[in-house]
Amino acid sequence: MCSRSLAVAEAVPRLTAGCCLFHNKAMHATLRPHWLVAQVSDINCAALAARGVQAVILDLDNTLTPWRSFDIAPAVMAWMAQVKAAGLRACIVSNAATARRVRPVAEELGVPWITRACKPLPGGFHRAMQLLGSTPETTAMIGDQMFTDILGGNRLGLFTILVEPISPHEAWTTSLLQRPLERLLGRVPREAFPSDGVQGGDERAQPIDQLGTGV
Ligand SMILES: [Mg+2]
Repeated sequence: MCSRSLAVAEAVPRLTAGCCLFHNKAMHATLRPHWLVAQVSDINCAALAARGVQAVILDLDNTLTPWRSFDIAPAVMAWMAQVKAAGLRACIVSNAATARRVRPVAEELGVPWITRACKPLPGGFHRAMQLLGSTPETTAMIGDQMFTDILGGNRLGLFTILVEPISPHEAWTTSLLQRPLERLLGRVPREAFPSDGVQGGDERAQPIDQLGTGV
């Protein structure tokens, strides 16, 4: 067998093992959000508080603003007022490298922020909960990416909410790598959302391959 054929023969079992891992139920559970919504302003803050949630960790890019934008939509501003009115504490947790990206948005929304969070690693989540004075049982994670926001939140036992990305513009690694994997796992496009903008239930009851089809 030539060296190239040998390399292929060795790679196939590894790829197969990777696919098996991908279809592993435990992995699906860690990528499955508790709620799916079209946008943050669709999140019912009173319902969150009624579940025992006291604090929300917020992703920035394509969750609160379009990617790399400082523009906060009026609906997001209004929703943040609802967050505070419901007695929820909030903090922006971003993988952005500098405060220059995060600070203007956080100050306009009147919430603290954390940069270099390295989601889905747990460090940023722990720093945020320390800042918010909350525990995993009383904290919700809200973001647009399954492999950073939802995976990181679920691994720590947070209540997780997946939003549709505000803008189609995003980092090439996200659009070329993460989004296709999300779709492979059953993530539905924004057009599939009902008019009320909310998908799924509030319990982790549906398998990931039915993500977005409701319960
Ligand atoms: Mg994001």
